Amino acid sequence: MEAVSLKYSETKNYIGGQLVDSNNRQMDVYSPLTGEKISTVVLSSATELDHAVQTAKKALPAWANLTVKERIQIFFKYRQLLEENRDELAALVSEENGKTIGEAYAEVDKGIELTEFAVSLPQLTQGEILEVSKGVECRTEYKPVGIVASITPFNFPHMVPNWTIPNALSLGNCMILKPSEMVPLSAMRIAELLKEAGLPDGVLNVVNGDKEIVEAICDHPDIAAVSFVGSTKVAQIVYKRASMNLKRCAALGGAKNHLIVLPDAHLEMAATNIAASMSGCAGQRCMAASAMVAVGGVQHIIDRLCEVSKTIIPGDNLGSVISLAAKERIEKYITEAEQAGAKVLVDGRNTVVEGKEGGYYVGPTVIDYVTPDMAIAKEEVFGPVLSIIRAKDIDEAFEIENSSEYGNAAAIFTQSGGFAREAMDKASAGMIGVNIGVPVPREPFSFGGWNDSKFGAHDITGKSSIDFWTQIKKTTVKWNPEARTNWMS
Ligand code: NAD
Repeated sequence: MEAVSLKYSETKNYIGGQLVDSNNRQMDVYSPLTGEKISTVVLSSATELDHAVQTAKKALPAWANLTVKERIQIFFKYRQLLEENRDELAALVSEENGKTIGEAYAEVDKGIELTEFAVSLPQLTQGEILEVSKGVECRTEYKPVGIVASITPFNFPHMVPNWTIPNALSLGNCMILKPSEMVPLSAMRIAELLKEAGLPDGVLNVVNGDKEIVEAICDHPDIAAVSFVGSTKVAQIVYKRASMNLKRCAALGGAKNHLIVLPDAHLEMAATNIAASMSGCAGQRCMAASAMVAVGGVQHIIDRLCEVSKTIIPGDNLGSVISLAAKERIEKYITEAEQAGAKVLVDGRNTVVEGKEGGYYVGPTVIDYVTPDMAIAKEEVFGPVLSIIRAKDIDEAFEIENSSEYGNAAAIFTQSGGFAREAMDKASAGMIGVNIGVPVPREPFSFGGWNDSKFGAHDITGKSSIDFWTQIKKTTVKWNPEARTNWMS
């Protein structure tokens, strides 16, 4: 039988600036928009990881020895290449992940913003100097950590690799990137563009794979730091394993974001922001609205929210979810909530998009009278589904939000400054929105949650990430014999 040619050729590894095959396993890659197979991806072994690490080790001395001002020159060029290839990069994101082309453009644009932060790093990494005794100086410098790893999820195939690559590399590290095996194509394209921008071979290596390669990363003695973004279950596994192997680790996990809505909220602003937050990227965002805590008389806002939700059309302004398994899992949450007494106001189950019958679509879903004990109220659904939990007053709303094990984002919709300020204090989450449904901190502010949404001390982007990707060297200097000497210097 004649072999069917795939739209994208087999996805290999990228090591030392070359595409390298794997002798291990491989799996198929599908476009969730249509269900069509578009590529295959190698699932590498620990031996293949070791090849990448040894390659990175060879590249490290020369790369780390450059000044930060020299290293960021590559990222000025990379930023330009992201602009020039914006259409192609967005199309790739949409095809492998299933989000709409508009959302994919936003993702690429965010990659540009992240790169702009990296090129500002010389302004943020000067170190400090102080004359601590007469003629004696202490100074600090930011030095690279060494070989670092970045493990990324399926939901932002372009943005999440760019959360880590520009900063970690500009600060002098060499990296092993392990993208989600469900969306490996954007990561490979990023590696190609960085080569075109002049990045020396071996500084960035992409090793594709699944659990086997993640475990090998956590165990490899020459990898000094591991950043992880994905579900809480795996974040915990990675954080424990990497830490047990004495590596520094920042592991960002899943989310269950609560939006508290008060009766005085601006009707149109609240309804449109909440609908966009729960349905954007088909709800597959760690910043998505998942639970709306409706305080008191907000029926008018719920009614308008339902009207707005009905204008979100699968296959048009709503993309697909990642897989058939994800579609089935999301629909099961809805059905179980309904069976437990919740009322489905807008129902996205059994959605089929004409002409894309093989795609994995769930329509926007709004469910009222969800109670805090239901699975849908507690667990991460990761689909375009909003659960409405009714609360009698704002104190009960904070109790509901605070009882979540997660703590990525929380938001309040109100026109009262006093209540908004209270939410900023009382919500138990790392990123808070006031009248904003997706409160992503923009650069130079850092991104990271609290509670079970993040393990480790650092955020993954912005200023906080500088401390993760560097170690501080402290030098004490005395040149002149007449310099004062005391027991400390
Ligand atoms: P995932 O945890 O299934 O996978 C993430 C990475 O871990 C992938 O590279 C995957 O290959 C690897 N992996 C999967 N199972 C593993 C195992 N048992 N052992 C070792 N490695 C394993 O996550 P996902 O489904 O790709 O992404 C969605 C999740 O990511 C959601 O929970 C979402 O909230 C979360 N996320 C969080 C943030 C954040 O900033 N907190 C950002 C984006 C996504």
